[in-house]
Amino acid sequence: MNISIYNTMDRKIEPFIPLHGKSVGMYCCGPTVYNYAHIGNLRTYIFEDLLHRILTYAGYDLKHVMNVTDVGHLSDDGDEGEDKMERRSRESGMSVYDIAQMYTAAFFEDTDALNIITPDVACRATEHIDQMIALIKRLEENGHTYISGGNVYFSIDTFPEYGRLAKLNLDQLQSGARIEVDENKKNPKDFVLWFTKSKFENHAMMWDSPWGSGYPGWHIECSAMSMHYLGESFDIHCGGIDHVNVHHTNEIAQSEAATGKNWVKYWVHGEFLINETGKMSKSKGEFLTLSLLKEKGYEPLDYRYFCLGGHYRSQLVFSWKSLDAAKNGRKNLMKAVSGLPFDTSRTVESITDEDSLSYLEQFKDHISVDLHIPQALALLWTLVKDSTVSDEDKAVLIRDMDRIFALDLTVKQPEGDESDIPQEIHDLVEQRVQAKKDKNYPLADEVRAIVESKGYLIKDTKDGPIVSKKL
Ligand code: AMP
Ligand code: ZN
Repeated sequence: MNISIYNTMDRKIEPFIPLHGKSVGMYCCGPTVYNYAHIGNLRTYIFEDLLHRILTYAGYDLKHVMNVTDVGHLSDDGDEGEDKMERRSRESGMSVYDIAQMYTAAFFEDTDALNIITPDVACRATEHIDQMIALIKRLEENGHTYISGGNVYFSIDTFPEYGRLAKLNLDQLQSGARIEVDENKKNPKDFVLWFTKSKFENHAMMWDSPWGSGYPGWHIECSAMSMHYLGESFDIHCGGIDHVNVHHTNEIAQSEAATGKNWVKYWVHGEFLINETGKMSKSKGEFLTLSLLKEKGYEPLDYRYFCLGGHYRSQLVFSWKSLDAAKNGRKNLMKAVSGLPFDTSRTVESITDEDSLSYLEQFKDHISVDLHIPQALALLWTLVKDSTVSDEDKAVLIRDMDRIFALDLTVKQPEGDESDIPQEIHDLVEQRVQAKKDKNYPLADEVRAIVESKGYLIKDTKDGPIVSKKL
């Protein structure tokens, strides 16, 4: 199967030709672990998971690397504001290390629940400070840095190709700069590689370096860790679309200035999940988490199904109504496939029927050209409803397709599963969750009794309450 993918660098869909035959290196910018991931962040990891699955489906030997940012990410990507981890530590009274540990664990719980394959390497910034220092030294030796106000900066004027990915017009930027100019910077677009002094002096996490005790800037971690695990040039770099202008632009500058080589062949960016009022942002504090969705009676795979319905390069608008539609859609899909004979050991290679083979070919066409997952999902529905295809072929085809969708389509659903529970019961369960939050335990008990009187049971788990029908 030949893959093609939209490369942000060239703004067009290009055939995917890896640098080293069947081996593919892919780096994805990971979470900053100062808070829970919001469902917008999770949309990006779902899209990256789809790309991961498509590459392995196509037979590539993939090495997928993702960083975990546990130091150095300021509240503004362009060096303004304060370190997100430090701020959270001050607000919560927890140490930065405990915060990092807690939210890293929460992140992987969410991604597991969404059937997102854990990257082959998930590397923490704090465990790769040596690699970052070595890279900054290389940049220093090549004349790309300067020290000002105690910090080490990357000088973009020493890298004429700066802004290639974002198609930045640097002259325009200079004159119309809207950013608050850091007086230490020679050019407003220069960025910090290593902080020692200035307003960030009292940082909790500090490391010795040739420039004094301090900590790394955010961008350097991705260059240092990706090259450490994937080499100085690799195939794919992913992230959310917001990273094009600053983060990835700076990553390219420092990586290529250090090595003198082209760093990444394909840049793949996922569009944002937005809500009806606009952007969903973690730093603004207005965000929905997977746990909240679960509290409201949705399963993580309802959210995955919802995301599969939108192409990764289009914005996806979140609303409860559309999540309800996804939940129903998935429920109907699970029902429709539940009687199929998934237990055979047959694979798609054994299919001989022309119509069945045509489904397989169409599926491959959809997923191989720029991740057309919504079309692939529509095709799955057509197949499910097609009475001319035998149940045996359907089962084999659907099992194969689910290698990409990862909706657990072949997993037998428990009898009387949660999706059969009426809305009235979900509302009561939600009311009880709220009563418990308000520490109104008499009300919580009363609501539980009402639920039981209507023939349902509530079981409290660490992921929230589970409701089932009384036997
Ligand atoms: P962060 O943890 O803030 O560094 O973000 C993790 C990933 O989520 C990055 O790839 C971001 O580009 C991406 N991201 C942030 N907000 C959204 C959103 N609303 N929709 C989709 N992806 C997002
Ligand atoms: Zn990054």
